[in-house]
Amino acid sequence: MAKKCIYCKAEIPDESVIDFCSRCGKGVWGEKMFNTIIKNMEEARSKGDLVSTNLIGPPKEISRV
Ligand SMILES: [Zn+2]
Repeated sequence: MAKKCIYCKAEIPDESVIDFCSRCGKGVWGEKMFNTIIKNMEEARSKGDLVSTNLIGPPKEISRV
């Protein structure tokens, strides 16, 4: 199942940590912010935490105790 960009529906690599293509990501957040997001997502993933892009949206309280 290929993932698709939530903005332009372009296919994105399944291993991508984000739900959108880099073009849209940069368009939305700007290149610098986009790169920061990717970095954070990849760090989180490498820790074994599956983080969804929801975290980028409106702040949500994450209770995980
Ligand atoms: Zn896109």
